[in-house]
Amino acid sequence: MTSAAIIPSTDLDRPELRRPMTDPFGRTIDYLRVSITDRCDFRCVYCMAEDMTFLPRADLLSLEELDRLCSAFIAKGVRKLRLTGGEPLVRRNMMSLVRSLSRHLKSGALDELTLTTNGSQLARFAAELADCGVRRINVSLDTLDPAEFRRITRWGELDRVLAGIDAALAAGLAIKINTVALKGTNEDEIPSLMRWAHGLGMGLTLIEVMPLGEIGEGRIDQYVPLSLIRARLAANYTLTDLPDSTGGPARYVRIEETGGRLGFITPLTHNFCESCNRVRITCTGTIHTCLGHEDASDLRRPLRASADDALLSAAIDRAIGTKPKGHDFIIDRRHNRPSVSRHMSVTGG
Ligand code: SAM
Ligand code: SF4
Repeated sequence: MTSAAIIPSTDLDRPELRRPMTDPFGRTIDYLRVSITDRCDFRCVYCMAEDMTFLPRADLLSLEELDRLCSAFIAKGVRKLRLTGGEPLVRRNMMSLVRSLSRHLKSGALDELTLTTNGSQLARFAAELADCGVRRINVSLDTLDPAEFRRITRWGELDRVLAGIDAALAAGLAIKINTVALKGTNEDEIPSLMRWAHGLGMGLTLIEVMPLGEIGEGRIDQYVPLSLIRARLAANYTLTDLPDSTGGPARYVRIEETGGRLGFITPLTHNFCESCNRVRITCTGTIHTCLGHEDASDLRRPLRASADDALLSAAIDRAIGTKPKGHDFIIDRRHNRPSVSRHMSVTGG
């Protein structure tokens, strides 16, 4: 196993020390996703049960601790940071974290600071996000039908999200819409969602339902393979494959008729693990090196154990050294239960 040397985050100013972390399979780890809260103002049917129990607030890392943790990863070669949740924009005072992390953009240590949001609070925060150097965001939206939107999110209001998207576009943020393809729910709406997104200059990425966490109903009823959606789209549109550039699970095509980009995230029908460049941390400071495994290591204890980052940095190295080769997802009639017991709102997707 090789991994980066232990570098205190105080050495962030010395780029020559920022060597990328490498996992046991030779993959460079330069992308960190951080769930800054497990709470959310929606209760999407594929993500959470309506009576979801959240973590006690006392278990959460403070915003200052999250900043220190992210900065330690940046010192170890992370170049892209995504804040997610739960809903990241509902965490109180979260803009102070964004503002403070933006110093790494200014110094050149970080290439990108971004977030994934349900859009409900975007109208309030879009301009400030842009001011902090955020350039692109992902907004999750599964339908443009208000009643269907309410049914899928249980608590959400479509108009608020659309107003948030308008505000973000007006602030100059590039947007990618993420849509979970749901059998019998939004699968027929995907062409019109795509035309809407592309008409506003936004990309659209489709996601297969993943078996994460108990949600109170079976996923076999929600799952539709994207291979089927793609074949249906190909009957009416010209799809041109684009080279993969993200190192992530998405495969992209250009739709010649709209000029827009369409992505497919297919964890269940396509194995993307060989190019995986990312790890995830939760709002309690647990690191998961694979979305599809139960693997977990605690970083909160080493973070709190001392004011300098040596223990933390060593714990990060040990965790990266356990990153598995690939995921364990499976949904079929014999496996109609979560492969991984934690919810997406814990690891942030
Ligand atoms: N609340 C924010 C949002 O919805 O964008 C950020 C967190 S959410 C967990 C991140 C992404 O995960 C969303 O695009 C959501 O649709 C997706 N997601 C949640 N549960 C999922 C599941 N079981 N399978 C596939 N995607 C899921
Ligand atoms: Fe909340 Fe996002 Fe999960 Fe929906 S998908 S319940 S918005 S965390």
